[in-house]
Amino acid sequence: MISQEAVIDRVQREFPRAPLVDNFGRAVTYLRVSVTDRCDFRCVYCMAEHMTFLPKPELLTLEELDRLCSAFVARGVKKLRLTGGEPLVRRDVMTLFRSLSRHLDSGALEELTLTTNGSQLARFAGDLAACGVKRINVSLDTLDADRFRALTRWGDLSKVLAGIDAAQQAGLQVKLNAVALRGENEHEIPGLIEWAHGRGMDVSLIEVMPLGETGSERVDQYLPLDLVQSRLKEHWTLEDIPYRTGGPARYVRIAETGGRLGFITPLTHNFCEGCNRVRVTCTGTLYMCLGQDDAADLRAPLRASESDDKLHAALDDAIFRKPKGHDFVIDRPGRAPSVRRHMSVTGGPIPHGWTAPTRLAALQHGALVWNESFHSPSLRRAARETPQCSFRCWPLPWLRSALAPPNSSSWACCRKSLPTSG
Ligand code: SAM
Ligand code: SF4
Repeated sequence: MISQEAVIDRVQREFPRAPLVDNFGRAVTYLRVSVTDRCDFRCVYCMAEHMTFLPKPELLTLEELDRLCSAFVARGVKKLRLTGGEPLVRRDVMTLFRSLSRHLDSGALEELTLTTNGSQLARFAGDLAACGVKRINVSLDTLDADRFRALTRWGDLSKVLAGIDAAQQAGLQVKLNAVALRGENEHEIPGLIEWAHGRGMDVSLIEVMPLGETGSERVDQYLPLDLVQSRLKEHWTLEDIPYRTGGPARYVRIAETGGRLGFITPLTHNFCEGCNRVRVTCTGTLYMCLGQDDAADLRAPLRASESDDKLHAALDDAIFRKPKGHDFVIDRPGRAPSVRRHMSVTGGPIPHGWTAPTRLAALQHGALVWNESFHSPSLRRAARETPQCSFRCWPLPWLRSALAPPNSSSWACCRKSLPTSG
């Protein structure tokens, strides 16, 4: 019998790089990559004032970041967002933008963008535009210089405003991100929106999330966006619009200003069903879902060899584990958590330890038959399209022998003998 490694090797050699499709049929087309954990601000909701940053060798180098992003692009990622920390404080970050812009030139990538605090934009806006960046997100919570200093601890509002000017002059479309903070900027929100819309910038409001230690109490900062929205409705007409970015934001248009306003409520998981995104930290850890802890290390396979084969294998395995949604960790009132069902999908009739390429190849080649516990539309489709299962119909002898079950009662080849549920 061939080893699992040999099967994966062979699958990878014989099948071209397939798009990254998760276990629920969602194609991963949006990647967010943190290029540094460092920042020139210390926003009260994000960082403690005295941070210990990661030792440099733990961070991916610019070359490794390029390889990693390019591997995702080769697998169907169309939108790439660089973030941080503050991406523009990473030394020589423009070389990364420049090299990634080749994927825009080739047409493989549709959008290269970034999220920035704006402090360095005056310096880099022209270069970013020259690299094919068309739209950027700038985080700005207040237009009051003193409050800005208090919220960012180290920031200078005038530099950010000059950065926004430079970005717009360079032809970049700017969207503002503002974290809604109780007792801090809540009364300024309408003014901020009006100012942004007056300059042709959309705005997204973000609900504060409890991520990491900051030295501030998040319960005090928390301002539900439902409340913000109902207050805004007292003055403005908010029209629901179908505009989506594939992320957790839902958008309205404000009739009076003509601009778009997004509400990002990550922990209320509005759009898990259509989630097309994953994120990678600056150390190369891939998170398949913002609301889940499951992660995959991509740095080890990146550093293990100059070839990208191990990286692609790690991607396959990780994307197959992308969960259905945040429901796994946060109970919605009135809804049962779906953990058990998810477990049955991945753990049901498929022996533990088989990686995604093996499982997909097994399905595509009729080695694995349809079972009610497969919830992924793509797997269902593949399963329905395979000929009637039998050992004899497996088209590839090597696959047949590789998949020969150690215990055939749990790994059967005909419908009758499969368990009816996980
Ligand atoms: N430094 C860049 C910036 O500030 O735009 C990029 C990185 S920053 C982590 C990305 C976004 O996350 C910013 O819009 C920031 O306001 C938001 N953010 C940071 N900590 C947050 C938290 N605890 N809750 C909600 N949003 C947060
Ligand atoms: Fe820095 Fe952005 Fe975090 Fe503020 S939100 S501290 S600018 S990384």
